[in-house]
Amino acid sequence: MKKIVFLTATRADFGKLKSLIEISIDSDFEVHIFATGMHMHKLYGGTVDEIVKQGYGNIYKYINQSTEESMDLTLSNTIQGLSGYVNENEPDLIVIHGDRVEALAGAIVGALNNILVAHIEGGEVSGTIDELIRHSVSKLSHVHFVANDLARKRLIQMGEIEESVFTIGSPDVDIMLSKKLLPLGQVKKYYQIEFTTYGIVLFHPVTTDKKNFGKYSSQLVDALVKSKSNFIVIYPNNDMGSSDIRRAYSVLEGNDHFKIFPSVRFEYFLVLLKHAMCIVGNSSAGIREAPYYGVPTINIGSRQDKRSDNKSILNTSYETDSILDAINESDRLIVQKVEHFGNGQSDKKFLEVIETEDFWTTPKQKQFRDLAFPN
Ligand code: UDP
Repeated sequence: MKKIVFLTATRADFGKLKSLIEISIDSDFEVHIFATGMHMHKLYGGTVDEIVKQGYGNIYKYINQSTEESMDLTLSNTIQGLSGYVNENEPDLIVIHGDRVEALAGAIVGALNNILVAHIEGGEVSGTIDELIRHSVSKLSHVHFVANDLARKRLIQMGEIEESVFTIGSPDVDIMLSKKLLPLGQVKKYYQIEFTTYGIVLFHPVTTDKKNFGKYSSQLVDALVKSKSNFIVIYPNNDMGSSDIRRAYSVLEGNDHFKIFPSVRFEYFLVLLKHAMCIVGNSSAGIREAPYYGVPTINIGSRQDKRSDNKSILNTSYETDSILDAINESDRLIVQKVEHFGNGQSDKKFLEVIETEDFWTTPKQKQFRDLAFPN
């Protein structure tokens, strides 16, 4: 029986690995989970509890950082913890997602220990340090499961062998389109939300522009208050600068138009998003998930640069007026649903690949497909 380790470090990557974890457990694989990063901190919602509640078993918890440690140290801590873990557990495959330093640690540990590494959702582009990390992770991974053909082409442009890239869609769409999502009323009750209409706010720092995020967050807060609408505000991730954002949100405490949460359970977040009047901030949820549900996005600043030109996404600067205008305009936007990231069958497509013998004999010595000198 092949042993697979899924590495998860944030609420964001867990939602994208979840359907793959579950289909692997239901098939003939021994599944283990290495949970680290934001999951391990109360400040970010202690989301490792959500993983434990799923009842998967074989969960290894590893604290890889103090609350806002520099990313290079988090990388090195994760390498250290994961290296010891894989030497003890000897997995046949490490599955990582996306563009965070923990994924990079997973790819480095796999590549240097001769363990097969599969990377989910490489070949994307964005506007932060994540961009550099994502492409580095791809170069260190042996197999790629991408969201669409554009991502596939980018990986091939980066020298990856065609046979190693599989287009499966984005696995979070499996859950987004699931019939098992709860009714809105139940989710609102769970989180004690009494708003009839509301927007969602999810705003993260951009590490390369960190020094300005105190000011940017105050400008965002001003726009939200001036709009006189209701908002569900979710804390940022743990990137450097996130404490400035949390500090700016403190002025919203006690204001009846706002409900603030460190994090919301993935399936519940989807239900809230599906019924929101808009999503405001710079989260990938505004680019990837909101358009599926036909929800307008007010996308602030550069974090999601080049990710999508969907008409439901209103790009704004960090200025209060610009954000406020976009919130008001989003009301009038007629949004068409789009499906650029698959149709909710990623788990089945993933399983089809990992059930083949060829997959498990993928060479660990990678080749570079040279487009300059094709053979
Ligand atoms: N998400 C979640 N609960 C939350 C906030 C976000 O499950 O409270 C999910 C959301 O559905 C999306 C992802 O996490 O898939 C986006 O997370 P985030 O904005 O934290 O990070 P990004 O992907 O922009 O780096």
